[in-house]
Parts: sequence; structure tokens; C-alpha cells
Amino acid sequence: MAEHIPAEKLAETGKAEYTKLEGLLKNGPLANKDRMAIPQQIMPAGEPKVRARQMTEVALGYTKEQAIVEANRCLQCKNEPCVKGCPVNVHIPQFIAQVAKGEFKAAADIIKETNLCRQSVAAFALRKSSVRANVRLAKCTRAQKKQ
Ligand code: SF4
Repeated sequence: MAEHIPAEKLAETGKAEYTKLEGLLKNGPLANKDRMAIPQQIMPAGEPKVRARQMTEVALGYTKEQAIVEANRCLQCKNEPCVKGCPVNVHIPQFIAQVAKGEFKAAADIIKETNLCRQSVAAFALRKSSVRANVRLAKCTRAQKKQ
């Protein structure tokens, strides 16, 4: 079983990665090699002993910094395998690009364009960082290579 890392610790790590990312972005748009070098952000989860006694959500969601860092890992693949694999055809690279800029409202609006469940799913997806949830469900180039 994977070791439980407290959300506060993951938030700290995310903040440090975010600071690094800000430094990289000062030199212009990221190259794919920069994106590949960004470590995957672990989704914070509730403490196992507490979860065992509750019916609350396991995933706690990313902080703003973690979501932006995770979104910047997206390679913006031209052939969009993630969109082809998405059951509701969400424009995944486009909404991730908005998350990567910290434009969460714009990201939610893109999800709503094709998502019949609209606000509820969009809100859930962003709260749980759809960057990861959608990408895992679909056929993400990076997820398939376990990167
Ligand atoms: S396949 Fe993955 S890396 Fe490529 S655009 Fe889609 S989400 Fe981004």
C-alpha cells in the first residue's frame, strides 16, 4: 500500500514546484522537455484512519499551485488522443492550457461546451483536478507511458 503523504506536505511540494515553474516561464513558453521534467503532482487524500470511519470524498483536490504545475505537464499533443478517448469529448488540451495559466473559470467554460452534465461535473472535475482525472480516464500520451 502506498504511503500516505499529508495534504499539507504535498501542498508545500507543489508550491516549490510552482516557484520553479514561474522561473522557467520567465524564459518563454515551455518546451516539451521542460514539461516532461515536471514531476507528477500527487493528489492529496484524507488520512486513512479518518477515511475508514467516514463516507466523505477520498481525494481532497489540488491547491491552485499544484493544479497549475500538473497542468503544465500536458504536452498539448496535436493529435489529441485524450479527446478521442474522452467519453464526452471534452476539449482536454484546451481546458488544461487554461488551468496551466491559472484561468480556472475559462477552463470550466471549455468543459461546459461539450459536457451535458455542465456545472456539477465541471465543478467536480476542477475540484478534483480534472487534469488528472480526465487524463487517466482517457488516452493521455503521458499517462499511458506512466510519466
Ligand atoms: S494526451 Fe495527455 S499530454 Fe497529450 S494533450 Fe492530451 S492530456 Fe495533454
